Amino acid sequence: MNFENILHETYNIDKDICRLGTLVEEELQPVFAKIDKIRDYNQIKVLNAMQEAGLAERHMQGTTGYGYDDIGRELLDRVYANVFDTEDALVRTQIVCGTQSLALCYYAVLRPGDELVAVTGRPYDTMDEIIGIRDNPSSLKSFGVTYKEVGLLEDGSPDYEGIAKTIGSNTKMAVIQRSRGYNYRDSFDIETIGKIISTIKSVNKNIVVMVDNCYGEFVDTAEPTNVGADLIAGSLIKNPGGGLALTGGYIAGKEHLVELCADRLTAPGLGKHVGASLGHNRQMIQGFYMAPHTVAESLKGAVFTAGLFEKLGFETSPASTARRSDIIQAIKFNDPEKLKCFCQSVQAAAPVDSFVCPEPWDMPGYEDPVIMAAGAFVQGASVELSADGPMREPFVAYMQGGLVYANVKLAALMGADRILKKE
Ligand SMILES: *Cc1c(COP(=O)(O)O)cnc(C)c1O
Repeated sequence: MNFENILHETYNIDKDICRLGTLVEEELQPVFAKIDKIRDYNQIKVLNAMQEAGLAERHMQGTTGYGYDDIGRELLDRVYANVFDTEDALVRTQIVCGTQSLALCYYAVLRPGDELVAVTGRPYDTMDEIIGIRDNPSSLKSFGVTYKEVGLLEDGSPDYEGIAKTIGSNTKMAVIQRSRGYNYRDSFDIETIGKIISTIKSVNKNIVVMVDNCYGEFVDTAEPTNVGADLIAGSLIKNPGGGLALTGGYIAGKEHLVELCADRLTAPGLGKHVGASLGHNRQMIQGFYMAPHTVAESLKGAVFTAGLFEKLGFETSPASTARRSDIIQAIKFNDPEKLKCFCQSVQAAAPVDSFVCPEPWDMPGYEDPVIMAAGAFVQGASVELSADGPMREPFVAYMQGGLVYANVKLAALMGADRILKKE
């Protein structure tokens, strides 16, 4: 019995598709080898940080109530700071998601009269109400924080000149989004992020540069903080949670900025000293330990999926052999039925809720109906295999995550099989 046979016998996937999958995998071995090298490098970084912090069984216990002297929580802050090469970090279950970790950075740093500049185009959807692009009585705008945006150039690259021109005397903070989010553009590699940061700092070195690092952690050997970012933020149900963290978010960066974030999260004066970890320390620590491996599994799944669908004539972004800076894989289907079929296959291949068949629905805050596939152990965890796409031209599926490469491979082959059988 081999992999092709079990796919055919268990899931009735056409033998030709299975063989194509094997071929794709063979051709992509050099790409996989590069992913392994990055994984191994990052694994040593994380492992060494844990050893240097003196990780022991006692750190895995939690606290209750105020959470004073939570040695596990304090250790994890040091481990994150070490790995991201920052002065300090704030890793908390009390940060409920990526959106909150980003909002925390904004509200911690910005004061009335200050200006925020987004230098890589319109930020992720959930930032709209925080910034005040869409009205909300608690937006930054309602506190008198102004906002400007520098779009990307036609080819998707940063507009360095535009950035230098837009930054003014009121600009206190600039934000870079590393990942493509749900836009059909490339994610920014670390060198490009570094170039954007130097552009900003050459105009005014006091501007606080924050990078939305969601989906980017451990995809490369360096992080935005290695190239001058003052603050980075992300979600623990994405890359750095390694698939084990049940909730949470993190911020890492300059000590005084992390302190501002901690005071904003709890209360001025309480800062980092409170926040019971309850029973979460073990999963958060072990999850970070697993993260380089989990990210590599997702990346291999994404590369395989890209390679398979390229063989079938679809456009992908990034291409299977392209350098990556996030774990998202976009596939352009140019057909609503194929997009639906792909997402339904991802759901059918999931370990949880595989019997559910997702349909497009009118999600609040989105203009077009959206189809979403997710069968995760942790609700909404997109470091686990998931896929979604807005039902509009050119019908792009955004797939991300996958704790286990073989599972992503199954999803991709199932999607290809079902799409071809419909033709
Ligand atoms: C996921 C994501 C966010 C928001 O994270 P949530 O955890 O869903 O709140 C912000 N920015 C980017 C680029 C993301 O990918």
